[in-house]
Amino acid sequence: MKIKHIEHIGIAVRDLSEAIAYYEGVLGLNCYAIEDVTDQKVKTAFFMVGQTKIELLESTSPDGTISKFIEKKGPGIHHLAFAVENIGDCIKEAAEKGINLIDKQARKGAEGLDIAFLHPGSTGGVLTEFCEKRR
Ligand code: ZN
Repeated sequence: MKIKHIEHIGIAVRDLSEAIAYYEGVLGLNCYAIEDVTDQKVKTAFFMVGQTKIELLESTSPDGTISKFIEKKGPGIHHLAFAVENIGDCIKEAAEKGINLIDKQARKGAEGLDIAFLHPGSTGGVLTEFCEKRR
């Protein structure tokens, strides 16, 4: 498979506006977009750092995956996302190599990306996401 670069780092936060205040006020980054991703029950805020984004994730529902993550582990780094070439092939190759997939095919993510998650049980504990600009 062809991994191009780190597309973003996903960070679970309790309160999006408090988190934005830190990234903007202390780190001096600029929040260039806020997006509701309804099917993932999250509200996301994006910052660009070089060619990599920081994606802050606040849950919009108590039964969403981000709520559950924060309940278990507290706020913090949630997942690592790689920009890939041909996401369908990457998913297929990962499956062939015995990786447990959360998404057996790509689905719609934020920012016009097709995305798919690999289960952290197969990746050394890191929830891993593949991303590709939708064609
Ligand atoms: Zn992500």
